Amino acid sequence: MAKITHKPAPRKAAMPKKKAKAAKPESVKSKPTKKSFKAVKPWTPAEVREVFTRFQKANPEPRGELEHVNPFTLLVAVVLSAQATDAGVNKATRELFKVADTPQKMLDLGEERLRDYIKTIGLYRTKAKNVIALSAKVLSDFGGEVPRTRAEIESLPGAGRKTANVVLNMAFGEHTMAVDTHVFRVGNRTGLAPGKTPLEVELGLEKVIPSEFMLHAHHWLILHGRYTCLARKPRCEVCLINDLCRWPEKTV
Ligand code: SF4
Repeated sequence: MAKITHKPAPRKAAMPKKKAKAAKPESVKSKPTKKSFKAVKPWTPAEVREVFTRFQKANPEPRGELEHVNPFTLLVAVVLSAQATDAGVNKATRELFKVADTPQKMLDLGEERLRDYIKTIGLYRTKAKNVIALSAKVLSDFGGEVPRTRAEIESLPGAGRKTANVVLNMAFGEHTMAVDTHVFRVGNRTGLAPGKTPLEVELGLEKVIPSEFMLHAHHWLILHGRYTCLARKPRCEVCLINDLCRWPEKTV
């Protein structure tokens, strides 16, 4: 009889530690969440309409939770919100925006003092650098006004696709769809717009949501994910779309 020998499991080669890069914080956040979502059957157009009709009835004028006083402070708040909570950002920007609510005032404040205002927010050093650089660029290239096109907003330091979508939607009323972790989860779980990446979900949502709901769709979905369809323990029992939701693990 052949002797069975057990080979020790091969050890994983030790990976050399990478030096931390001063990358765009948003680029990290916009990756899909670790959890992989099983594709569920997408909703029919009639079901999508029904879902948004219910969201609209429950909350006709949904508001974003990032505090701001003009398009520039909105842009700054969104850049600061990468991998941070809106509440945490608001706590810091409440004081910051009292002294720096324009690109010029932000430059006058300077990077060091800006860091002091935002030091409670994750990645604050990189973000301070980006906010100063974007303020300079808004002044030099766009006459001190936040630009109105996606390409121009994405050209600003620290701003990516999600930032552009939020600013275009909230400041300029465009029908864009910013996909954060909440929208990504809700889009996948429910069957509204399943996708493996935030971009897939974004394009899927834009395709299926009727245009009359698009202005507020981003906020309805974020608020739904933040307060009802929670990542770990979704509150399916109080969910207003629980009869339509396709998630096999829903609890009702
Ligand atoms: S039923 Fe549950 S899983 Fe489905 S959308 Fe509502 S809260 Fe989320």
